[in-house]
Amino acid sequence: MDNLQLEINFSERRNRFRDALNAGEFVLLVENSSPGRDNDPAASADRLAALENAVLDIKGINASLAITDRCHTVDVWRAAEYASALSAENRDRHVIYLSGRDTTLNETRNLIDIAANAGNCNIVPASGSVIPGDSVRESRKRTFTESIEILQELASHPYGFFSGATVNPYQYTGWSLMGQYFKLVKKLNSGASFLVTQAGWDMLKLQSLRWYLTGRSLFYPMIARLILLTPEKVERILAGEYPGISISHDFQRILEKELHYSNTQFEAAQYRRLELQAAGCRLLGFSGIQLAGVEQPGKAKIAAERIVNALREFTDFDHWLEEYNSYLARTEMAPFSSSFYLYDRTLRRPYPENDRPIANELDDPMVSGAEKLGYNLRKFLFVHADRQKADHQRLFKKLFAGCRSCDVCRLPATSFVCTENCPKRLANGPCGGVKPNGNCEITNSECIHCKVVRLADWAGELPKLEDHILPPGIRRIL
Ligand code: SF4
Ligand code: SF4
Repeated sequence: MDNLQLEINFSERRNRFRDALNAGEFVLLVENSSPGRDNDPAASADRLAALENAVLDIKGINASLAITDRCHTVDVWRAAEYASALSAENRDRHVIYLSGRDTTLNETRNLIDIAANAGNCNIVPASGSVIPGDSVRESRKRTFTESIEILQELASHPYGFFSGATVNPYQYTGWSLMGQYFKLVKKLNSGASFLVTQAGWDMLKLQSLRWYLTGRSLFYPMIARLILLTPEKVERILAGEYPGISISHDFQRILEKELHYSNTQFEAAQYRRLELQAAGCRLLGFSGIQLAGVEQPGKAKIAAERIVNALREFTDFDHWLEEYNSYLARTEMAPFSSSFYLYDRTLRRPYPENDRPIANELDDPMVSGAEKLGYNLRKFLFVHADRQKADHQRLFKKLFAGCRSCDVCRLPATSFVCTENCPKRLANGPCGGVKPNGNCEITNSECIHCKVVRLADWAGELPKLEDHILPPGIRRIL
């Protein structure tokens, strides 16, 4: 490992994944999770090789793999390590994920070097998911290296990575949605060149994201993550076991009904939904999809064929919309009765060139009297805290801001809310696991970062939230 840097080839190299996005080709990334370390490595490598051969052989769409370890729940091979089993001549076509969970910054650097050494040049960092069943205390004990920090490492690495950012657009309060959007912009400012969404089914949210970025002239290639469901996956979604994935009551009823279908009918329903989503993504201006749930070569090929046919079937937005509306009828896709959409009249037209959408006002931030008092007091006491030593006024910070004694005070940049109280100790915005109502995936009370956005909205300081990339607070282990 010590000689790794010396082995890296820094010469000009091709990157066919980046080239395809830049050329406006619609790409298909077939998602594959890295296996547990207790699996036979040779057998795992053979399985990956078989999937790679099948995917690269797909005709009619630019298909390659996305190797992910972002949701690892057991001791799995890290994606950067596992991806070394891909064929050397095709690694520039694939994408690998790099999860920050249980990974220190130094370990992250090693994984980045492993990727560079192997020629895996397309990397999507993610801060990482919690382990289902972990308590708040257990989550706090884990290391979560923030995706923005990893992006900065990738950007400064001489290898010249092409990195992506993740975003969860399926948020239904103004603050949780804007928290995701602001964090995405920070990621783009930290070196991300494309973005991949969280998985979901609400096409209005995908179009809102497209409109938001277009409205800000942020023309980055966007890839929507979709899932081909199996009955087991439906059961897990209904049980709320997928971090960051929530569904509406209407959609839940549809899935419950489909669970009672025969296997053939169930599969047909899933493929039709996938076809409509994939074709819709292209017509909404997405550059591709990342498809989870097709890890066997045969299934990946069938899914790809269905997608290719759907792309041929729907080349016109109105035709697609008619079919999509008749398929979903009046299904409400928002998981809450009162839900926030940034734009009206989404899914009635593609991006309107001459009729730019006007964003809706965020709802009343509902800041209580006690919150106003607390904010004003903290602002009075800590307005210069980012320029002072972190232990300055520590006692007052503990009393009035719940200070957790970190090394870098960032209160003035976070609406005077101490973000060290986020169980993952993320500094720059909400993680992808935040619930659609803005509650924390771990504590189930308001996500710290949604509170930061809500207070900033009340204080008239929303635009400032994108201004600074904040460093982590505690660097106990490098
Ligand atoms: S950011 Fe939070 S934990 Fe760190 S010094 Fe400020 S108040 Fe304390
Ligand atoms: S407070 Fe927010 S960012 Fe932190 S773990 Fe909870 S949902 Fe994620």
